[in-house]
This record gives sequence, structure tokens and C-alpha cells, in this order.
Amino acid sequence: MIHAFDMSPAERLAWLREEAPARLAELYGEADRVRRATVGDAVHLRGLIEISNYCVRECGYCGLRAPHHALRRYRLTRDEVLDCAERAVELGYGTVVLQAGEDYGITRDWLTDIVRYIKLETPLAVTLSLGERPEEDLEAWRDAGADRYLIRFETSDPELYSQIHPTFRGRPSDRVEILNTLKRLGYEAGSGVMIGIPGQTFASLAADIELFRRLDLDMIGVGPYIPHPVTPLGQGLWRRDVNPAEQVPNTEEMVYRVVALTRLACPYANIPSTTALATINLANGRELGLARGANVVMPNLTPVAYRSLYEIYPSKACIFETAFACYSCIHQRIASIGRTVGSGPGGRITEVAWASWP
Ligand code: SAH
Repeated sequence: MIHAFDMSPAERLAWLREEAPARLAELYGEADRVRRATVGDAVHLRGLIEISNYCVRECGYCGLRAPHHALRRYRLTRDEVLDCAERAVELGYGTVVLQAGEDYGITRDWLTDIVRYIKLETPLAVTLSLGERPEEDLEAWRDAGADRYLIRFETSDPELYSQIHPTFRGRPSDRVEILNTLKRLGYEAGSGVMIGIPGQTFASLAADIELFRRLDLDMIGVGPYIPHPVTPLGQGLWRRDVNPAEQVPNTEEMVYRVVALTRLACPYANIPSTTALATINLANGRELGLARGANVVMPNLTPVAYRSLYEIYPSKACIFETAFACYSCIHQRIASIGRTVGSGPGGRITEVAWASWP
């Protein structure tokens, strides 16, 4: 028996360690059933625009880290961002996600103007994912009409987090506090973690899912940690020694377990089947994520000339496809598993709203 909504931490931990295929099939079936009952069969598409690969931070896992001097840096112009947004409308996407490294060349005013323009001129929902910006920036963008903000806490283990995510100019990094600020400002708030970070234990991963639930997140994205050779973690440095039996593997199977357990813990959340998952299983990672709890996909809209420069990890899926190729590929994949493409912004569904659904 699976305690869908009131699973204990010990049960969650046992599922993360479960190896029997028949038992895992039960878990995935339950997550799929709950997904259908709460958020339905529609898969919402969020057009991803990677607006800049500049970054001030030195995260131990990410290929955009400031010390990676060999990486050619880019920042889209206002017109390029607006062209991508227009493309999103043409392709029928309900949301654009503006993502970047933590780039203070993206100024408060520059982005305020862009958000205001998109909200005024298009029906799109606007999601931002720009790192640990000061509250004044978050507030200005919210006032300009931004609907949602994504910031992964990466791991709920404070020791591991401080090891892989150095502070910037001595400012402590508290992404949970930022998530609370975002909620107070009226954003839909999204977070998530990487799975299989060197030094990440099963117990801490179970605690991550518990934290998703406690934070009452609107969106939760999880994907495998993929080593990048230009980073300290990718080079086997900065690692904390944990008992090998406790180390979470960065495998596809582990991602599905976490997607399924996250759906059971947060039944109404919007959960993407991520690009990182598609990267480790190009053949059908996206579909399996959708079949095991996910209900969102984020097709790439970044101009192809910049795609390969947004290299947070190597061999990223979809870096050569045009926006239209990503659109066709994803539509086909969604149809192949008997699901439909969602229309409209596809925002938060609350239990109350669901109860009054026609
Ligand atoms: N600068 C923004 C957006 C970062 S990119 C921010 O820090 O929030 C979005 C996500 O990519 C990160 O939150 C991280 O979870 C993921 N990521 C970065 N490097 C990765 C890697 N090597 N493998 C897998 N995921 C990675």
C-alpha cells in the first residue's frame, strides 16, 4: 500500500532505495494516477529563453561559473528577447521562462521594461529564473507583471550546499529565505534539486522532498546532476566523503523515483520533465518523466546561435534544434503517450480551484 499524501520520511527513504522493478512500477503507477486526478492530462509548455550566460557566482557544479574564462559570454538584446516572446505566442506556448546566470548586467530597469512589455502586448505568463537577486529587483519585476520565479535550493543539506555553492561577496546564500520572499511578493514560487550531487545522501534527498512539501511550492523541477569537466565537482574536487552506500547515484532511475515521490508529496504542483533528464535519456526520458508524475515541458526558444553557450552541463539536449524543431519534437512526444498539450498560462492549480473545475 502506498501512502500517497501522508508518506512518512522513513517510507520515502525506503522508496529511494527500492530496487525491485515491480515495486517501482507500483510507485510510478500511483504517481501517474495522482497526476491525472490533480493536474490532469494536459502538458503545459513553457518556452525557455536563456537570456544571458554571464554569471558572478562560482557554483561548484555549473559550467557558467564566473571563473570559466574560456566560455564566450552573451546577453540577448531587448529586441532578441521580445522576438523570442513573439515566437512563443506563435507556437501557442502560454508561458515564457527568462533564465540566466546571476548577471547584474541584467539591470532592474532593463528587465522591468521587458516584463512590462511582454505582459502588455502578449497573453503570456512570465517566469523568471535569474538567481539570488535583491528583494528590490524581485519586487520591481513583480510590479511589472512577472508571474512566477524559479530558484532551486539544490540540496536541503546545509553543509553540502555551502560546499558546492560559495557565498558571493560574503553575503550568505539562503535560497529558502528567497523562496519565502517570492511568495510574500505574490509570485508563484518554484524550486528543486539536482539528484546525485557528489556527497548527497539518500537521507538528505528524502529531506529535500519533505522541504518541497513544507514550502508548499507551486513548481518543482528535479534533474540528474551531470558532471561538467570545467567545474571543481566535475573534476572530483570539493567533494565531501560520504559512505558509498549512502551516496545517491545520478541515474535516470533515481530521477524517476524523485519525480514520482514529489508528485505524491505535492499533488497539485507543476512538475517539469526536465532537459537534464532528456539529456541522459534522449530516446524517451521526457516521456518517462511525464508518465511518472510530471506535467510540464520547457521547450527551448533561445536563438540557436547562443544555445551551445548556455552550457550549464555538457551535451545538453536540444542545443542544435530551432525553436520550431523543439516545438514539433515535443508535440510529437506528448501525443505519443496519449497526453494533450495544455493551453493558456497553466498556472497554479489549488485544491479549491480543482474542486470547482467544470
Ligand atoms: N542562475 C540561475 C539559473 C541556473 S540554471 C540560478 O542559479 O538559479 C538552472 C539550474 O540548472 C540550476 O538551479 C541547477 O540545479 C541546474 N544545474 C546547474 N549545473 C548543473 C549540472 N552540472 N548538472 C545538472 N544540473 C545543473
